[in-house]
Amino acid sequence: MKSYFDEGDLVGVLTAQPLDRVLDYRAPEGGCHLGAYVEVPLGPRKVLGVVWGEGRGDWDYAKVRSVIRVLDAAPMRDEMRSFLEKMGAYTLTPMSAMLRLATRAPGLGDPPSMRKVYRLGGVEPDRMTSAREQVLGVLRDYGGLSFTLTELAELAGVTTGVVKGLVKQGAVSEEDAPRDLPFPRLDPDYGGKDLTEDQSAAASRLRAGVDAGGYGTVLLKGVTGSGKTEVYLEAVAEALRHGQQALVLLPEIALSGEFLTRVEARFGAKPAEWHSGVTMTERRRVWRMVGQGDAQLVVGARSALFLPYQNLGLIVVDEEHDTSYKQEEGVFYNARDMAVLRASLCGARVVLASATPCLETWANAESGKYERVELISRFGESVLPEMRTIDMRREDVPAGEWISPALRRAVDKRMEAGEQSLLFLNRRGYAPVTICRACGHQIGCDQCDAKMVEHRFLKRLMCHQCGETKPIPETCPSCAAEGKLAPVGPGVERLAEEAARHWPDARVVVLSSDLFGSARALKERIEEIAKGDADIIIGTQLVAKGHNFPLLTLVGVIDADLGLQGSDLRAAERTFQLMRQVAGRAGRAERPGEAVMQTYQPEHPVIRAILGGDEEAFWRAEAAGREAAGVPPYGRMAGIILSGPDVQEVFDLGNFLARNTAPLARVGAQVYGPAPAPIARVRGRHRVRLLVKAGKGVALQSALSQWVSQAKLKGQLRLAVDIDPQSFF
Ligand code: ADP
Ligand code: ZN
Repeated sequence: MKSYFDEGDLVGVLTAQPLDRVLDYRAPEGGCHLGAYVEVPLGPRKVLGVVWGEGRGDWDYAKVRSVIRVLDAAPMRDEMRSFLEKMGAYTLTPMSAMLRLATRAPGLGDPPSMRKVYRLGGVEPDRMTSAREQVLGVLRDYGGLSFTLTELAELAGVTTGVVKGLVKQGAVSEEDAPRDLPFPRLDPDYGGKDLTEDQSAAASRLRAGVDAGGYGTVLLKGVTGSGKTEVYLEAVAEALRHGQQALVLLPEIALSGEFLTRVEARFGAKPAEWHSGVTMTERRRVWRMVGQGDAQLVVGARSALFLPYQNLGLIVVDEEHDTSYKQEEGVFYNARDMAVLRASLCGARVVLASATPCLETWANAESGKYERVELISRFGESVLPEMRTIDMRREDVPAGEWISPALRRAVDKRMEAGEQSLLFLNRRGYAPVTICRACGHQIGCDQCDAKMVEHRFLKRLMCHQCGETKPIPETCPSCAAEGKLAPVGPGVERLAEEAARHWPDARVVVLSSDLFGSARALKERIEEIAKGDADIIIGTQLVAKGHNFPLLTLVGVIDADLGLQGSDLRAAERTFQLMRQVAGRAGRAERPGEAVMQTYQPEHPVIRAILGGDEEAFWRAEAAGREAAGVPPYGRMAGIILSGPDVQEVFDLGNFLARNTAPLARVGAQVYGPAPAPIARVRGRHRVRLLVKAGKGVALQSALSQWVSQAKLKGQLRLAVDIDPQSFF
């Protein structure tokens, strides 16, 4: 392939417009590089594009239009183009949508904008005040550096008026500088901690990987608080020493000021940040600086994977098992898996850090595809909380309540000590089971060995395994009693009511993602709570993520049995991960913590694995179960999400696909559904899902695209493919 095109040469340009082909243009005056970001005419508009290769030449050359201009940005590297292509092929995403992921910064085509910066002027001010002395002192201390007005005033601890006064006198000079400033250099040797023996052994293995260069993935496993972050920051330091860029991916919710402060303490300056809370101007700066190598470290959410790194040497995926790495809107992808793909294409190292890796990662480490590095002990004062079960068979809990007397006593103790308790229940607003109050029968699916789940908006019961739905019956299918069927089980809101009854004076808060308008609002609330603004926290799996609540000393798991026998293939794994993590929440600071789990089956292997710490036994049993069932990672799955404003139309399309499965049958894949999708309605659109299950070695993507191409998407109907789906509820 040519890497440079002379003026007038035909080039193929990929744009972010939803067209299914690369368009031909003539290279502009001065020519252009392969991968160049360009502006091209498209109909009456000018759009952004990337020179993707030679033109096809299947148009009349005389009619082919010219590239308008080449943007002032480093061309997209080969490695990035092949990453987008491979990921597009894997996730069945059109290339235009892939390009959109990679150009998510505003004003990429604009000339660099300017802003005022301030530095030492050289003229002595007529009169010296202590405020003025402060400002000049800062400028002298930082040598030749320049600052924005607010930065300088803040550093000097004076008002901006003082700085402006000095500008008038010529003691401080004011200049125009490009707005997109490079990020300050990070010093890999700035503030390393003394590592424990265990930690330094782990750190040197990670460093050795970076030194060796080339692709490789390591699972860094260790309980919460064992120092995984300290250890992987050593790998980051090593990449920086090699002049490489590094990326640390965190679950969006864990992208806190706390983490950035830690990075600053380690490297002496703040890294580039990339997540939904970053302003548009800052995004543009990050995108550009990453592209020209002037941002050495990016700390970001999953979409930071698509920044135009010039020399990426290391990707860390922290809390790699976290479900928020799976994007389930727009382009469906798992950032952890795509991080591994990207690294394999650009020869970078990957560190997957977790206390409780997902089974896929565990299996890859078992089979030797990934290296495994383990941290055994927990660092310093904080110790793993004391863990015990509350045997619910021996507790006297009235109907309609879920907090046992034993758990109430534990909470009482914390209340007296002025400490916080967390009641954990991974269930939002609906009832998971419909039970007959006469005979105890739970309504199950007629086709599968699964319970039917009540879906309020559909006013129906549904099997999450096969998608079968039926109305809530009037009489019990087992004992024929009338009017005895009732939705059973608490959601977090119902639990909050109960807590308010038991502890009328307590400040009870509910942390559930659906109760917050934005990730930012949630993060703010979490920070307030961490500072002590609550006595009892009621939360879903959201709180199991890496938050630090120093006052929290009790975790009560309301229903440890939840998910142990669900129809979700990842239920046991999730239960295991959540409980280990929730237990890790308690007593992270100096105060000793306690974790109690309410269960009706204290002898269940998952519960025992959590208490006894025999994780390997748990993973082996879980892996064997999945292998026998032929499900991931020992088989392949894909979801098809259909959506539209009219629920009947969406189901009709789903049924059409379910009846016309020849392309899938050819590769031995099976189809289940249609059924309401895990998120059944988004912004007024109904979502319906079909599940496809296939063997491991099957060319699933091509069969899938043949199959879905039969669907006629009339009007507002949409179809999306979700390879390796994560959510089953
Ligand atoms: P993890 O990422 O495994 O949860 P962290 O790296 O966050 O663990 O470590 C937990 C806490 O212990 C942090 O506050 C961290 O700064 C501290 N810590 C860990 N190792 C050391 C060390 N060797 N020296 C000083 N502090 C440490
Ligand atoms: Zn079923």
